[in-house]
Amino acid sequence: MPRDLFISKGLSAATIEGIAKATRSLCDISEDEDFDILHFLEVDILRVFPEFYLFVEEDFRMDGSQAFVTEDSTGIVVAESVYNDARAGFFYARKILAHEFGHVLLHHNRGFETKHSTRSPYTKQLRKMDTFNSAEWQADTYAILLLIPTKNSYSAIDLRQKYKISAKQADFIASRLASIRRRSDVYCREDVQSVIDAIKWNINIVDTNSDEQYSLFG
Ligand SMILES: [Zn+2]
Repeated sequence: MPRDLFISKGLSAATIEGIAKATRSLCDISEDEDFDILHFLEVDILRVFPEFYLFVEEDFRMDGSQAFVTEDSTGIVVAESVYNDARAGFFYARKILAHEFGHVLLHHNRGFETKHSTRSPYTKQLRKMDTFNSAEWQADTYAILLLIPTKNSYSAIDLRQKYKISAKQADFIASRLASIRRRSDVYCREDVQSVIDAIKWNINIVDTNSDEQYSLFG
């Protein structure tokens, strides 16, 4: 069973929203536009991160995983069925890809174990882990905010129609968005800036085999 990972650098929802906004603006995608995650991963991101790649793998070779980030954090490997569903516009599949990209951005110098999506739920590695320090919470919050900016406030019914998702998913996302909007989180501009700088300059020189390396989250 996959495990969640404690990330020493806690990120508030407001900071993660800043990172999601910065991701869009990095590729000149406005907040009004629907975020085309496949176009982003296959075309847009290469302008700032030329080494990045999205690799589509046959399902039976994925060992039960839906998608994962490569060990050096320069690529995402996605199961063919998930890729096809993302192409067809299914929200769950688009969210998996956005979630994995969140790991690339936020946890690129972390262990391999956390950076994959499977059908089984994550278990918390530490009992009393703070939400802000959970790798899975960070990647998931990033994914939702990248795909659905809080600029527009959607009800569960709006979300269901606009994103073609089930009532259950719509309720989950609406309540997540509402809780993000309700909080008065501290927004940390430096954290947003360092994540964006890292993808532009540092991501390809981080050696994942050593703990001594430059670390964004150290
Ligand atoms: Zn994950």
